[in-house]
Amino acid sequence: MNGVQVEHSSSDARGAAAGRPRRIAFFGGTFDPPHRGHLAIAAAAADRFHLDEVLFAPVADQPLKRAGACASFADRLAMVRLACAADSRFRATAIDGPRGDGRPNYTIDTLTLLRSQLPPQDELFCLIGADSFRDLPRWRDPDRLLAICEWIVVSRPGFPLQSFAAEQTRRIHPLEGVQVDVSSTAIRAALAGTAKSIAEPGLIPPEVREYIRKHRLYSAHGTGADRTG
Ligand code: ATP
Repeated sequence: MNGVQVEHSSSDARGAAAGRPRRIAFFGGTFDPPHRGHLAIAAAAADRFHLDEVLFAPVADQPLKRAGACASFADRLAMVRLACAADSRFRATAIDGPRGDGRPNYTIDTLTLLRSQLPPQDELFCLIGADSFRDLPRWRDPDRLLAICEWIVVSRPGFPLQSFAAEQTRRIHPLEGVQVDVSSTAIRAALAGTAKSIAEPGLIPPEVREYIRKHRLYSAHGTGADRTG
């Protein structure tokens, strides 16, 4: 397990000063690259569930995507940091970074670590799109995953929210109505294809777009060097 500590931020101070438990959401993903859909669901979840903080956590080695990311973990973390400037509730974390023991990053390990680093009174959520949540039974230890935190499951175009069993609804909070039809896969394909695609307004935050341009990521001649994440 990697030992990256969760950094403390201004909202820690706000929560502590207010003497109240904080509401923190873990938002894991490949973020290859981060896009408007990520920002939209994070903002909608923060608004709807009164979250103090959404932790954007790029994953180094996703067990179900072992072919690896296109951009390196360092580049994806850098892009996520830039994207998080969009909202004072957003923060990038390296908690799901490379482990160094050859094991992939299992979300149950990461959430267990995060939970142990938070004060016990803080409430922990996991923010996830409906497409990813559908795969949960294939993840390591789904029962413990559902028990360790609350889940905010967001609809995604093409992936309507499933109905949940009565005993699940206490821990699973559906969030409908965010309909941003964009994926990192589509963005990567567009960037590798034609120059005009990168001008697509608003799909990628401008600072992230500039980072991609400067570091020549995703183009057919870009580096794409570290495919292992
Ligand atoms: P890829 O196309 O490479 O699979 P992605 O666009 O799905 O990437 P990820 O970084 O894998 O992006 O997603 C992180 C999390 O954000 C996942 O839980 C995913 O379901 C969710 N998510 C991503 N894009 C959207 C979107 N447009 N609407 C709702 N949820 C989304």
